[in-house]
Amino acid sequence: MPIATVNPATGETLKTYDALSPEDVERKLALAAATFDTYRTTTFFDRARLLEQAADLLDADTPDIARVMTTEMGKPVAAARAEAAKCARTMRWYAQNAARLLADEYPADEDVRDSGAARALVRYRPLGVVLAVMPWNFPLWQVVRFAAPALMAGNVGLLKHASNVPQTALYLEDLLRRAAFPEGCFQTLLVGSDAVEGILRDDRVAAATLTGSEPAGRSVAAIAGDEVKKTVLELGGSDPYVVMPSADVDKAARTAVTARVQNNGQSCIAAKRFIVHEDVFEEFRDAFADGMRALRVGDPLDEATDVGPLASEQGRKDLEELVDEAVESGATVLCGGQRPKDFKDGWFYEPTVLADITPEMRIHREETFGPVATLYRVADLDAAIAVANDTPFGLSSNLWTGDDDDIERFVRDSGAGGVFVNGMTASHPALPFGGAKRSGYGRELSDHGIKEFCNITTVWIAG
Ligand code: NAP
Repeated sequence: MPIATVNPATGETLKTYDALSPEDVERKLALAAATFDTYRTTTFFDRARLLEQAADLLDADTPDIARVMTTEMGKPVAAARAEAAKCARTMRWYAQNAARLLADEYPADEDVRDSGAARALVRYRPLGVVLAVMPWNFPLWQVVRFAAPALMAGNVGLLKHASNVPQTALYLEDLLRRAAFPEGCFQTLLVGSDAVEGILRDDRVAAATLTGSEPAGRSVAAIAGDEVKKTVLELGGSDPYVVMPSADVDKAARTAVTARVQNNGQSCIAAKRFIVHEDVFEEFRDAFADGMRALRVGDPLDEATDVGPLASEQGRKDLEELVDEAVESGATVLCGGQRPKDFKDGWFYEPTVLADITPEMRIHREETFGPVATLYRVADLDAAIAVANDTPFGLSSNLWTGDDDDIERFVRDSGAGGVFVNGMTASHPALPFGGAKRSGYGRELSDHGIKEFCNITTVWIAG
């Protein structure tokens, strides 16, 4: 895949980059390792000051970097600004909380007395150089939610970003440099995915995190496993959105539209499968389809646009194939189901709702990475949970209900790493984020996220 900015709204190639040479990669690896040697001895106070500076710079840069993101991957520009603001908030949250999250832990005296210790404690020390392989869909956020905790823990980062967002990738390196992080704390590697194996196998790289597709995750995990290196994987999702009769159905339908089309439908935690109790099925279906039909598709730099283009021509082709196969197999198109007629250029696709989905259809089992929703009618909560869990993925899940028993039941039985009730799934710096099943393993954000790339060190001092 060429390393280039190609505007998805027009198909125009705006900027291309040469991949780094093996010698360049070697220089960056050496710098990362040398930097870690000293950076790991800095204090939480020192690191927090740098990260707060980065947050301030990002706030000031937001209008500009938002336009760059939109031009590289097509998200509506207001959403790009919101993404930058969330990154700054998360930087500040880790700057202010990392010392507390990683404070030494002292087991109770009575628990360790028979170990012979006068004193025993657990210390969270950094692991070293961490390779981050990241996707284009939230090109700032995916990186910051790794980098902010990793840098606060004393690690250093190497970023291999998706090949279609090179300007955002270079911006991140520049931002952290301007914030006065030592040279080598955070470096962008403009390389193709074929270079990942060599970098990951290098002895100077301690661990890796990958956010992206299942094939990419499987490859990185296999190589890291062979090298016995820690990994965190954040992969795809096909989140269920269950609506019960006791729910506020109108609010559920309005929220469903946002939950499905956020980021032009290209979010791992977008609700993708809408599973509705038969008593409120027609009411929800009509309100949801009306909401999807009313969305304004258009130029993502236009503030009035709700849904921009898909990020790549291939992404639109993959989505079209899933929809076409479902329709040929009997799915009913309630709205959309095709490219919008008004756009000759760019990779646009109409917000789409499909009903009458059967388990044999590919769309039932695969992730729809674009503004396409599938609708299921069920008789009760048991049936809803069965459909919700009938997927290889397990990232998050949503339930709409007014009944506390439904909530308990869903929390007990959902196969996902998140359960969001009467609202849509969203990440938050203080809450863990991650999946089960083929959605990956490990957690980002909160105390769980910052501890993933720590050497959890037992300190035992004899009595
Ligand atoms: P992708 O094709 O897997 O790319 C993600 C990153 O992995 C890119 O940097 C890519 O580099 C690299 N890559 C691709 N194949 C690789 C391989 N064999 N070895 C090493 N690196 C490889 O995914 P995408 O299409 O950009 O992103 C969409 C997917 O990400 C969706 O499935 C979505 O659900 C998932 N996602 C998950 C989360 C989460 O938190 N769980 C968040 C966002 C997205 P190149 O660009 O150079 O190919």
